[in-house]
Amino acid sequence: MSYVTAQQLSKSFADNTVFEDIHFTIEKGEFITLLGPSGCGKSTLLRSLAGLNPVDSGQIWVDGEEITHQAPQQRGIGMVFQSYALFPNMTVEANIAFGLKMKGLSSSAIKPDVAKVIELVELTGKEHHYPHQLSGGQRQRVALARALVVKPRILLLDEPLSALDAKIRKHLRQQIRDIQKEMNLTTIFVTHDQEEAMIMSDRIFLMNKGEIVQAGTPEEIYTQPADEFVAGFMGHYNLVAADKAKDLFNIDADSKVAIRPESIYVKEAGRQYGSHISAPQLATIKNHQLLGNVIRYQVDVQECELTVDLLNRSSERLLANGSQLELLFNLNEIQPVRA
Ligand code: ADP
Ligand code: MG
Repeated sequence: MSYVTAQQLSKSFADNTVFEDIHFTIEKGEFITLLGPSGCGKSTLLRSLAGLNPVDSGQIWVDGEEITHQAPQQRGIGMVFQSYALFPNMTVEANIAFGLKMKGLSSSAIKPDVAKVIELVELTGKEHHYPHQLSGGQRQRVALARALVVKPRILLLDEPLSALDAKIRKHLRQQIRDIQKEMNLTTIFVTHDQEEAMIMSDRIFLMNKGEIVQAGTPEEIYTQPADEFVAGFMGHYNLVAADKAKDLFNIDADSKVAIRPESIYVKEAGRQYGSHISAPQLATIKNHQLLGNVIRYQVDVQECELTVDLLNRSSERLLANGSQLELLFNLNEIQPVRA
């Protein structure tokens, strides 16, 4: 049996069904990300696992024990929210110690554990500070320490980085991942940011409208999107109708096909191409965006609008709007996608 098993979970608020028949398994020590657009049910699912929004039906098992009907504090689950939720009138140390105190442990028993997690989240020296004296990133590390100190069986993180600015966000996501690996802590992380999900996760559960539409490693989800929604969410996939796939790539398809912007190349004069590269197609540049190391072009080819990513090499001049070029498609990278 897997470390975490969820079977046929359903949850409604009045007549709003948030999810129905959700099921998944998670192995010990895995870092799972629930990824999906706002409102798709990520937080509700996470809160259901924590016991904060009990499910209407279904079962949840952790480490061989059914926890479906347990109270939140019995589940051995640590949770971190986007909004820190610290006690403003307690010091860093007192905030972190709170959960252990509630368990009835004595101050002397608590102290070494609190000191250990403070060190782990790099807050040494801040023990006697109050939340208002800390930066957003530091407050979130207090919240993380508070979740870790009770030695949870599962760590649940609901968009813990969303309120932080880009630099702190990147640092903290690495720190979370390092701590999680070191402790071999089974973790479920929620985000709507696909880059964050790709970088952090062992596996991603991609959600849409209360369903897990695809579960897999970041690479699987990025390179083999199960349907149009996943293709649209995970990258800037070009979706091409079946009849257009014949015109553009000379392939017979019975559904739409997807090709990533980086699987389309500009034909270079005098260069030989293998049989996995299509015949050239004349394209017109409509627009471009400079994304740093990549230039993203919108092009028109055979009355189809496609996105093409080209490396922004210094030697490569920016192609002006209206200019024409010959494009090649990597046929190995073209795949059918369900509607
Ligand atoms: P996400 O975290 O993916 O943005 P949520 O799980 O917060 O999505 O919300 C999913 C749906 O459940 C939304 O339609 C939301 O309005 C509804 N919902 C969430 N929490 C409650 C609640 N406590 N009461 C009523 N409806 C809720
Ligand atoms: Mg949410």
